[in-house]
Amino acid sequence: MINLTRTDWESRAKALKIEGRAFINGEYTNATDGETFDCISPVDGRLLAEVASCDQADADRAVVSARATFNSGVWSQLAPASRKAVMIRFAELVEAHAEELALLETLDMGKPISDSLNVDVACSASALRWSGEAIDKVYDEVAPTSHDQLGLVTREAIGVVAAIVPWNFPLMMACWKLGPALATGNSVILKPSEKSPLTAIRVAQLAVEAGIPKGVLNVLPGYGHTVGKALALHMDVDTLVFTGSTKVAKQLLVYAGQSNMKRIWLEAGGKSPNIVFADAPDLQVAAESAAAAIAFNQGEVCTAGSRLLVERSIKDDFVPLVVEAIKSWKAGNPLDPETNVGALVDTQQLNTVLSYIEAGHADGAKLLIGGKRALEETGGVYVEPTIFEGVLNSMRIAREEIFGPVLSVITFDSAEEAIQIANDTPYGLAAAVWTSNISKAHLVAKALRAGSVWVNQYDGGDMTAPFGGFKQSGNGRDKSLHAFDKYTELKATWIKL
Ligand code: NAD
Repeated sequence: MINLTRTDWESRAKALKIEGRAFINGEYTNATDGETFDCISPVDGRLLAEVASCDQADADRAVVSARATFNSGVWSQLAPASRKAVMIRFAELVEAHAEELALLETLDMGKPISDSLNVDVACSASALRWSGEAIDKVYDEVAPTSHDQLGLVTREAIGVVAAIVPWNFPLMMACWKLGPALATGNSVILKPSEKSPLTAIRVAQLAVEAGIPKGVLNVLPGYGHTVGKALALHMDVDTLVFTGSTKVAKQLLVYAGQSNMKRIWLEAGGKSPNIVFADAPDLQVAAESAAAAIAFNQGEVCTAGSRLLVERSIKDDFVPLVVEAIKSWKAGNPLDPETNVGALVDTQQLNTVLSYIEAGHADGAKLLIGGKRALEETGGVYVEPTIFEGVLNSMRIAREEIFGPVLSVITFDSAEEAIQIANDTPYGLAAAVWTSNISKAHLVAKALRAGSVWVNQYDGGDMTAPFGGFKQSGNGRDKSLHAFDKYTELKATWIKL
């Protein structure tokens, strides 16, 4: 149990040695052309590190290393029980370095230190451990053939996996990929976001310490349009797994078509509806949950409950409860363990969020609370959790992913209308429904076009269930045994007896 004060975290932050180099073939290394970019903390605008800005030559080096180790069998052909043991050690090392990793995450992307510790680092270790523990318990199949045939249906590691991940849960999104990718025996090249590369760079060394052979995990920090694109177009990358925006996801599909038809698995954006019926079991609980659904992680969450659909008959009672509840979500210094809303990732994201708040005003929505930049004097980038009501689902703030703490309240009159509004979006990542009528809960849950549906709660789930989207929220699933599908090819072997 880590129990540090803000002063403790600040003195640890001062003493922290930050590694900014790429990790290729088991060694830290500069980008081939020596290029770097500035890694700036959104907490206070301080320069944290000069980070290697990788490009095509580094992608080539990493792919060569990954391919060679994959072909050597040093990891890919290890018995699953042996890979399991290493994955569990990797998870344990992540836990043993929880303080350092949490601090890096908070300094790099601004999230509250308590969340970095209890959510990001904890769930990252859990993803590695769960995938490792599962790998020696999954069996292949024997086909129901005639008696003179033996039909084997087996899954085998696909080879070289490129994983491109976003900045909102940097280490956790990486580990949702690394867990199943490594457990199934692949060699991986991880490209963290240029906005939050530090934890990915650090865990590469922990992987080697855990016993993952050199070259099996490579980390290439850098920009999307340089090293990200180089990996996506690479002729010797077998699979590209991605978490990020729908815009970039679509581009990756094009790159795959332009190159070697590598498999493309996409976890993309969302605009998730949170539907509160008049017969919700407890309006106070629903209101607190609705506030958390948009304020947690500064709203920088793919499943943020950004559209709050409220039955008209309870609107005047319920919406004030949400406004009251969101007052307990306050922007503050993320190194303070009491802070629950940290800094946005950078100034660019702040400007995006503020421009959506402008759009809300311009389109005629009514601001109930928030709406402004906060704590500007700190040099960091903070924004007040914000609620608009009187929002129409056609307004920009209801249609586009803001990726900030801006909630749109929309009213409805019937379950049919709620479903119609909920599904009227290009996205399909998550949705929630609040009702004490079990039939209504099931009927609405079935009708919602989303990869995760929560009933009488928002944002439940752990490693046991798949996570991913319908429609333009992506394809394939992270977490659970279903995630293994992304990292394996299915083979049918027919033996004539
Ligand atoms: P982004 O799409 O801008 O970037 C994601 C990653 O793609 C980064 O590493 C970036 O460098 C890289 N990239 C950008 N352009 C590229 C290109 N042309 N070729 C190759 N790589 C490229 O997303 P972001 O702003 O980092 O993250 C926010 C987005 O992530 C939101 O849309 C959010 O909903 C989504 N997200 C989805 C999930 C999910 O599981 N569905 C989880 C978290 C975040």
